Amino acid sequence: MTKIIISPGKYIQGSGELKRIKEHVEHLGSSFFIIISKSGYKRFGDTIKESFGTSENIHFIEFNGECSKGEIDRLGKELKEKGADVVIGVGGGKIHDSAKAVAYYAKLPVVIVPTISSTDAPCSALSVLYTEDGEFDEYLLLPKNPDIVLVDSDAVSKAPARLLVAGMGDALATKFEARASVRSGSKTMAGELATNAAVALADLCYETLLREGLKAKLAVENKVCTKAVENIIEANTLLSGIGFESGGLGAAHAIHNGLTVIEETHNLYHGEKVAFGVLVQLVLENAPIEEIEEVLYFCNEVGLPTTLEDLGIKEISEEKIMEAAKLSCVEGETTHNMPFEVTPQDVYAAILAADALGKNFDF
Ligand SMILES: [Zn+2]
Repeated sequence: MTKIIISPGKYIQGSGELKRIKEHVEHLGSSFFIIISKSGYKRFGDTIKESFGTSENIHFIEFNGECSKGEIDRLGKELKEKGADVVIGVGGGKIHDSAKAVAYYAKLPVVIVPTISSTDAPCSALSVLYTEDGEFDEYLLLPKNPDIVLVDSDAVSKAPARLLVAGMGDALATKFEARASVRSGSKTMAGELATNAAVALADLCYETLLREGLKAKLAVENKVCTKAVENIIEANTLLSGIGFESGGLGAAHAIHNGLTVIEETHNLYHGEKVAFGVLVQLVLENAPIEEIEEVLYFCNEVGLPTTLEDLGIKEISEEKIMEAAKLSCVEGETTHNMPFEVTPQDVYAAILAADALGKNFDF
């Protein structure tokens, strides 16, 4: 029986850390290739330049908006031309995934700098590739996690509150998916069984959300960074990041993937759909009502969806829901990490029952 836990080489989080980026990364190399969006450059370009001063060799490269094979090739060529020896991705998920992929192909160290906290992807050894049109292409499984993840909590707390809340939705799944995956003895994204350490981080992630979620949301709505915000950023990024990758996935993310066939849900963030997936998973497990109510209370408190209507689905089409249910049960999906057999009929029933529980809940 083999257990594995994987994590970034170093995780740094704090207020104003972007001002100290040079100190944090200079041991990795001497020339830095910084992938950033136009708006990201406007917000953070000067801070990064000031930190490096004139002595260091830094190259800003504008990201074209999609993490596709074409974009990764283009960035790889630019990287070679500049002759840089460290890749840094500053921004959101697609920039991180591109930076990880570019560094992997060039065999160079990579630093991830999240400026939002909307998913648990920054710490992982995974890039999600899309086609040029923005449709899912494939997962690129990387041999190692980022060398450094550097989070400036001031930057994150100035981003829209909805993004932080979506990150809480993604993090909400971590404990429940790890629990199911451990019960069934499934292998995690790290390639073997979960360590107790990863499971403990997944549990701490959930406890942190319940304790700090509302406080953090209200603070960020007012563009301030408090201790609660710091705790939620850590839960969304580090605890959920290691928790999902090394603790195991279950039905919640598979249901998220299924829901993507329903067009009305396309305006929602990943974590918002995952939160509803958690409720569906709890129904599949026939979890105690106290546990379901705890999750419903949390979702209502911070503003995560608990009904199909909240997901944007105004008219419930039996056919569409069944299509989503089938997609969440295709071969290789993580619904099969549940400790019992799950059929599309089970998921269909659980989606409608979760919707009913959401509607019935008196917040
Ligand atoms: Zn996720």
